[in-house]
Amino acid sequence: MIPFNKASITQIESKYVMQALSSRLCGDSAFTNKAYKLLYEKTGVKNMLLTTSCTHALELSALLSELKPGDEVIFPSFTFVSTVNAFLLRGVRPVFCDIDSKTMNIDVNRIEDLLNPNIKAIVIVHYAGICCDMDVINNIAKRKNLIIIEDAAQAVGSKYKGQPAGTLSNYGCYSFHETKNYVMGEGGAIVINNNKEKFIQAEIMREKGTDRSRFLRGEVDKYSWQSIGSSYLPSDVLAAILCGQLERFEEIMEKRMKIWKYYYDGVEILEKKGKIQRQFIPDYSFHNAHMFFFIANSNRERDHIINKLKEKDIQSTFHYVPLHSSPMGLKLGYKKEDLPITEEYANRLIRLPLWPEMTIFDIEFILESLYKIL
Ligand SMILES: *Cc1c(COP(=O)(O)O)cnc(C)c1O
Repeated sequence: MIPFNKASITQIESKYVMQALSSRLCGDSAFTNKAYKLLYEKTGVKNMLLTTSCTHALELSALLSELKPGDEVIFPSFTFVSTVNAFLLRGVRPVFCDIDSKTMNIDVNRIEDLLNPNIKAIVIVHYAGICCDMDVINNIAKRKNLIIIEDAAQAVGSKYKGQPAGTLSNYGCYSFHETKNYVMGEGGAIVINNNKEKFIQAEIMREKGTDRSRFLRGEVDKYSWQSIGSSYLPSDVLAAILCGQLERFEEIMEKRMKIWKYYYDGVEILEKKGKIQRQFIPDYSFHNAHMFFFIANSNRERDHIINKLKEKDIQSTFHYVPLHSSPMGLKLGYKKEDLPITEEYANRLIRLPLWPEMTIFDIEFILESLYKIL
């Protein structure tokens, strides 16, 4: 069977895990610091804190944004539940925005119409590692004094006009879940952009509401309760896995990109014949080959393709059930018809297997199967 996803783990990751096991196991030890150094070297991103997940990085961004019950936040509905749940925990009301049918990212031209005085923030998702048009979003934010948060779970290593995803807003949130490009099993990070005060506040909230980080740096002689907070720091054993992955940053990126391009070129003929719609990569976005997807001509055809591929032992998938029309979205008062593009495209999208150790033989088999099915 060709699985949908499979993490690429080598002896480097094993060696680091063994090293971590024989030193400190708790968070903020040697491998966490090494991960920051590697992330800076490989992506140019600094002012970052590792977290236990991207979900928790998003929760931390919601805490730092000081959102209150009654505040409203704009989100795409075509995303993973965590994008929104992290904010609902603060009592925020979600305002869902439709997506662009070419990128599946939030439709920046629809944001302005949704604004009202209660809206305090916009959370965007760089879907499939392809960046949203941040100049437009940041321009709205500046004029209306809004906080912007990037759910960059899928976009580690992606760039917008040469700038790393995650650094294009107030807060960027990454995922190192095993299904993402660089993995630590479960894990993530938050980037706090251009705000020293918020960075210190984030350190405190991440460490159970204490200034233990400052204590570890020798800046205070004891640590104490400073604010609300939680436990958002991952074990150094997990950070050790991430360090191995980051040392292989270019290797993993190149392998993924090669597979992505093979698919992209391979299905061109299907697009030319009107059988599918390929991913669209805007000029402003350098992507990290996180995901290969295409849009089938109908929901029925999409399900048919998935089933036929399954018969050939190829695991393909679809996602997301749009949030606004999920049971929770309906409870919040949304209706299916509210976001027609999201509904339409979520019903037609199909994702193909993409993981670093896939062979050209695997991909050719998948492409041949698709040609036959379509
Ligand atoms: C994977 C993902 C998340 C959640 O990441 P975790 O690290 O598993 O919490 C959030 N948002 C998006 C868009 C994702 O793809």
